[in-house]
Amino acid sequence: MKKILKILLIVVILIAIIILLLKIFKKEKETIVCIDAGHGGKDVGASLEERYEKNDTLKVAKLVKKYLEEKNIKVIMTREDDKTVELIDRCRIANKKKVNAFVSIHRNSAASGNGVEIWISSKKEHKDIELAESILNKLEDVSIQSNRGVKYGTIKGQNTDYYVLNNTKMPSCLIELGFITDEKDNELLDNNIESYSKAIAEGIIEKISKNVE
Ligand SMILES: [Zn+2]
Repeated sequence: MKKILKILLIVVILIAIIILLLKIFKKEKETIVCIDAGHGGKDVGASLEERYEKNDTLKVAKLVKKYLEEKNIKVIMTREDDKTVELIDRCRIANKKKVNAFVSIHRNSAASGNGVEIWISSKKEHKDIELAESILNKLEDVSIQSNRGVKYGTIKGQNTDYYVLNNTKMPSCLIELGFITDEKDNELLDNNIESYSKAIAEGIIEKISKNVE
């Protein structure tokens, strides 16, 4: 009888260990994406009359979050309302949670120009290029005015870096989702905001699902 009890006890302990291991394994496999709505609060970003970049980026970020969550991807936002968040804190949020990808959403601004471009760090890391290309490919399938391609560094030069791309420790990119200074880009964004956001989410998913496997 004692033997049976001992065996039972061992079986129970083994099952408990297996359940624990499965939980740890599942946690390790959990995919987390950080979506960074550019600007916010006092920092309105670029603007065209009463239209502010900070509002456009938040609208898109929230929709991207929704589509990612529909695919069971955990999403962390650097902001979910109109508040000021320092760049250093945006990076801290992503680095602390060890997210699988960091995607910053912005809108471009210039005296002339239109279309979508995606920036990555000057290091030109393979995973950054792949993430940016994956998102841009999906965006090209929806109604964007033009595809300006993947760009390295910043507008100031290929050896400079946008702070959030240089200070996050995971694959990252910064989307300039059309020009806020271009009426047609704005019209396209307003009419296709759901499909733009869905395309961004799909581009992220396609890339990180390959990384996780
Ligand atoms: Zn911006």
